[in-house]
Amino acid sequence: MNKWYGNYHALARMFGPMGALPTAEFIKDWAADPFTAVEADWAGNSQHASAPSNAAASGPWADHLIGVGSEWSLEFSGYLAGAIDAVERGIASLGV
Ligand SMILES: Cc1cc2nc3c(=O)[nH]c(=O)nc-3n(C[C@H](O)[C@H](O)[C@H](O)COP(=O)(O)OP(=O)(O)OC[C@H]3O[C@@H](n4cnc5c(N)ncnc54)[C@H](O)[C@@H]3O)c2cc1C
Repeated sequence: MNKWYGNYHALARMFGPMGALPTAEFIKDWAADPFTAVEADWAGNSQHASAPSNAAASGPWADHLIGVGSEWSLEFSGYLAGAIDAVERGIASLGV
């Protein structure tokens, strides 16, 4: 029995029977990993950034490109709900 995960059933489901027999465990603080987080992450705003316009206002991409990822959602940027919201807005802007 593992005190962190309770058991290894989930690992066995993902990786097969050998997944239930780990030889070592590690705990890693990803926030301290220089390839994962930088100082700005530690001091940054804990909220997702507000969304930019989902379309180019001018230039060659104007009227040819619509952002439909979560980060373009006006209401739920950075969340799953934002992905749906951005796609719905993108489709609506096509008049479909
Ligand atoms: C660790 C973690 C935990 C999270 N927890 C939550 C949570 O609890 N609740 C919540 O609401 N949200 C959560 N989120 C955020 C949520 O997962 C995202 O907001 C959502 O998945 C964004 O959906 P998306 O469709 O915009 O982008 P994605 O899900 O990132 O989909 C983009 C897809 O495009 C593919 N792709 C990228 N480049 C190319 C390319 N050049 N060609 C072809 N395909 C490409 C990628 O492989 C990916 O499959 C979490 C995110 C992370 C990372």
